[in-house]
Amino acid sequence: MKYLFLIADGMGDWPLDELNARTPLQAAETPNMDALARQGIVGTCRTVPAGMPPGSDVANMSLMGFDPARHHTGRGPIEAAAQGLELEDGDLVWRCNLVTVSELSVNGFMHDYSAGHIPTDKAVPLIRGLQARFGSERFTFHPGVQYRHLLVQKGAAGADESNIHVQPPHDITDKSIAASVESFKTNPPLFDLVARASRWLAEDPNNDTKANAIWPWGQGKPLRLPSFEQTYGLKGAVISAVDLIKGLGRAAGMEAIDVPGATGLLDTNYAGKVQAAIDFLKHGDFVFVHLEGPDECGHGGDIDCKVEAIARFDRLVLGPLLEAMAGRQATFLVTCDHLTPIALKTHHADPVPFLLWWPGCMKPSGVESFSEHTAEMGERIAKGHALLPWVLAQAGRGA
Ligand SMILES: [Zn+2]
Repeated sequence: MKYLFLIADGMGDWPLDELNARTPLQAAETPNMDALARQGIVGTCRTVPAGMPPGSDVANMSLMGFDPARHHTGRGPIEAAAQGLELEDGDLVWRCNLVTVSELSVNGFMHDYSAGHIPTDKAVPLIRGLQARFGSERFTFHPGVQYRHLLVQKGAAGADESNIHVQPPHDITDKSIAASVESFKTNPPLFDLVARASRWLAEDPNNDTKANAIWPWGQGKPLRLPSFEQTYGLKGAVISAVDLIKGLGRAAGMEAIDVPGATGLLDTNYAGKVQAAIDFLKHGDFVFVHLEGPDECGHGGDIDCKVEAIARFDRLVLGPLLEAMAGRQATFLVTCDHLTPIALKTHHADPVPFLLWWPGCMKPSGVESFSEHTAEMGERIAKGHALLPWVLAQAGRGA
């Protein structure tokens, strides 16, 4: 049996007046999902454990069959895994943004979490410059993409001062940075570094970008996931445009397949992702295909965009994969990692709808279509990381 997990990031939503009290999933043209829902099993699954933030990192870790409450250490460590950074257990890994602030003090405001969407070719020299000037035994800067970089604080994992809460910069656009500056101060070596690095960025005459501060957040000790293959007996791969999905996959020993033209937006290379999945399944057993589009539209509060992203997911991802796997023993799970309701423009931790189908699945759900509403009439999986083993048990029995 082959397994295909198809994840439409942030697809789930709430009914909208603009759609005559339908959700974007109900409004979108989704003949393939609807057909599978009629023949298969639908249900809901709580991908975000109580008390954890509804981030894509937490939710996708659940969908890959690992308990975030046990394994999740932070955003920084997942991105370090995506980069293949070699880390020691005592290292504290910070996600480090290049940002624009009014001033780096308790009187300051966060103007831009991305330093004007700084391009990678401008950002990398700045990070290298920071490493040359302020890198030390204790701190190392590691360049990433655009505004997203990493800072490693040696030997600080588990120390009292590592347990501080700096706000994610994208959550405080145009808001005061006072609370985070106070947090930085409780980790004195870090605060000293942030202050000196930011002064250099702000004052260096050669810096022609909007970056005038660094912003370390999302810290944690290195991510160590059990091997996916040893845990579930399946050779797996992840296909995504998004670093944190690749990081989760790599940390579990899965292949992270790069698809040229995978943008994470509505115009992503659907055919390339589908072909990569088909190619991998010639020798592999399990593929986790992640589409970012619906989430981006949800953050933008753009209803038409979200409806279209869901329709394309059905037509350009699910449809061709069903066709390619026709006549073979292949199990399809279709779901989203979390809701990104248009009304909120951000994530929500409510349970997500899912559908499960394999050839010869003998448990017709009795529903006519796939939606948040029909899913609620089906199975209930209380712990997100239990979904994957449950799927294997269901489909294994049916095969
Ligand atoms: Zn997500």
